[in-house]
Amino acid sequence: MSGNVEKRCLLCEELISAETDSREHLIPNSIGGRKKVSGFLCVPCNSKSGDSWDSALAHQMNPLSLFFRINRERGDAPSQKFKTTSGRELVLNADGSMDLPKPVFKEQQNDTRVEIKISARDMTEAKKMLRGVARKYPRLNVDELLEETKMQSTYSQEPIHFNLSFGGLDAGRSFVKTALALLSTIGVSARDCEHAIQFLKEEESEPCFGYYYEKDLVGGRPAGTPVHCVHVNGDPDSKLIRGYVEYFGVMRVVMCLSSNYSGNAFSATYAIDPTKGEELNLSVGLDLDLVDIRKAYNYEKWDGKAVQQAMGAVIGPTLEKQHKEERGRVLDEAVRYAFSNCGSKEGEVIAEEQHNRLMGLLREKLEPWVLNQIISMRKHD
Ligand SMILES: [Zn+2]
Repeated sequence: MSGNVEKRCLLCEELISAETDSREHLIPNSIGGRKKVSGFLCVPCNSKSGDSWDSALAHQMNPLSLFFRINRERGDAPSQKFKTTSGRELVLNADGSMDLPKPVFKEQQNDTRVEIKISARDMTEAKKMLRGVARKYPRLNVDELLEETKMQSTYSQEPIHFNLSFGGLDAGRSFVKTALALLSTIGVSARDCEHAIQFLKEEESEPCFGYYYEKDLVGGRPAGTPVHCVHVNGDPDSKLIRGYVEYFGVMRVVMCLSSNYSGNAFSATYAIDPTKGEELNLSVGLDLDLVDIRKAYNYEKWDGKAVQQAMGAVIGPTLEKQHKEERGRVLDEAVRYAFSNCGSKEGEVIAEEQHNRLMGLLREKLEPWVLNQIISMRKHD
């Protein structure tokens, strides 16, 4: 839109100048959003809503952001601690790697000796811990120990439990703000969306969003890909401006932004693949009436089975892809390790003894490789 039209911040109504214009992310950056909207929120309202609404959403979505290894424009999804089925704690990082949550130090005094077990997150940490031990036991040869210390990757030998919970009004306001941001990009005044504005601005107002799983409203979904999708449409016959926001193909929300619309019919959709940051061409068939949308507000369109299905459709293929990549990486590393330690030189014919050693080394490296993640999900009130 032309630059000389006066723009006011949707939330505080202040005039937006070049200095106070925020380039608000249409979909929050924290979950992989790319597109930005100008003339929508002022800088203070952008950061205020980011710190409350968007961060509540980001927090709820973080297990999925980590699991899908989303591609963020700014920074990585924060690492998060998870428990395995037996209660062991692991930290999952944005690149899919896992760490121990903190260094483990165990000291056991027997009659004749002291046994010390150390698990460190890297060599620097291991050295520091060993030096600490050396101060206590001066007879210990730290350098010798360090030479024997090997870096070992952490593989999870058992399933990791993700507890995904979502809901709450703050996250709800983030969805509604995102739908309004899309409206503003097609020149429809978000200010006319009375339900949305009231919900965003008044603490005690009726929420105008709800989870919807009665049918899949999205057309052209790429198989196995978690999508972020935002859609708005206006319909003068029913007087509705409807909104739809879907994150990771799993979280699906419908909203009624206005029930008093009299302008021209319109429809707009914006969708991305958050693992690559690429735009997708999807269609959304959102023609629900007000009664149905309101039912969603009361969790009447929530369906645990459909949620599981939506998750399975993206999580299964992603796990498979990650398994394949991980298998390739681990195998390469194991082969390199085995060849450089089996005692044969490059180009030489491998003798049987070396062959056996080679196989042993390969097994040693490959055995701990198990990657298994289970995502369980809990509805949060
Ligand atoms: Zn403002």
